[in-house]
Amino acid sequence: MKQIILTGDRPTGRLHVGHYVGSLRERVRLQNTGTFDEIYIMIADAQALTDNAEHPEKVRQNIMQVALDYLACGIDPEKSTIFIQSMVPELTELTFYYMNLVTVSRVQRNPTVKAEIKQKNFEASIPLGFFCYPISQAADITAFHATVVPVGEDQEPMLEQTREIVRKFNEVYGETLTEPQILLANNRASMRLPGIDGKAKMSKSLGNCIYLADSPEEIKTKIMSMFTDPDHLRVQDPGKVEGNPVFTYLDAFSTDEHFAEFLPEYANLDELKAHYQRGGLGDVKVKKFLNNVMQSVLQPIRERRTYWEGRTDEVYEILKAGSAVAEKTAAKTLQEVRHAMKIDYFDENNLLK
Ligand code: ATP
Ligand code: MG
Repeated sequence: MKQIILTGDRPTGRLHVGHYVGSLRERVRLQNTGTFDEIYIMIADAQALTDNAEHPEKVRQNIMQVALDYLACGIDPEKSTIFIQSMVPELTELTFYYMNLVTVSRVQRNPTVKAEIKQKNFEASIPLGFFCYPISQAADITAFHATVVPVGEDQEPMLEQTREIVRKFNEVYGETLTEPQILLANNRASMRLPGIDGKAKMSKSLGNCIYLADSPEEIKTKIMSMFTDPDHLRVQDPGKVEGNPVFTYLDAFSTDEHFAEFLPEYANLDELKAHYQRGGLGDVKVKKFLNNVMQSVLQPIRERRTYWEGRTDEVYEILKAGSAVAEKTAAKTLQEVRHAMKIDYFDENNLLK
């Protein structure tokens, strides 16, 4: 069986370091292993419009920003197809058929949808399109027969929903769609990076982000003002590392090489944590180290971004060509779906059969 990746991001803002550790870093690694037959990376503008219907300009502007972030992180358009969701209208038609295979109460039970409805204060006025976005995600994934979907932990319920749709579709209409596997980052901290405010998730919509495009000064200011252990008042006090975002970020980003370079008095993160827990280690020192780590991770990304910012017409061509490739693949799947459902009426006089 072909190994195919599909993943993506909503153009609701520039990408942040949560996206990087949760999904982007893994995508680039997988891309460069060369073991995947096809890789599709989608800028999910149609999904972004489900909760931004009144701000289409915001979504439009951020398409280029997200594309620049991809290229900055090392997504290579020679190896990965980058495309814009709404430029592949076949995805919408697939969504429409899949919606019949899912109940309202099933979507209501989706914990990510629940959390987002609460976070966005939709209360009784949930846009129907927003409510259906897990189904449109199933269309995005299955249109490419994706086998692997590298995403953050908040996407787990979406993958489960997709697998259910695939099973149901294949059961009702015959074996057609491919069941995808989720691929989560290999450490807890990276699966759901908290915000700099200590909130459970760094999220564009919450404004608690360090962006990939932030300047060195912005990164430093954000890190130095980060939330830590509120009970760690004096340097000599024992501190907590669980739930302390500074340590969570170190879990996600720091390597032993960073210790050797910036904080050689500790061999690794375990030693630093042990000292913090014993007491005698101040927050400022830990934050300064985190700042050095983040600066060294983000500097090459920022430099590549600057390179591409001067070449947006090339980026435009990448998106246009990628969308054409993606549409071709999705059209083939849509044809398979219509055939399985026996609604391909005018192919080979099928309506007469
Ligand atoms: P929005 O607030 O508009 O939903 P977002 O910050 O949640 O934006 P998405 O575009 O919804 O970003 O998510 C893109 C990808 O990044 C998904 O795979 C998601 O799981 C992952 N991701 C988003 N936030 C984090 C995070 N804080 N930690 C790890 N992964 C994340
Ligand atoms: Mg999100």
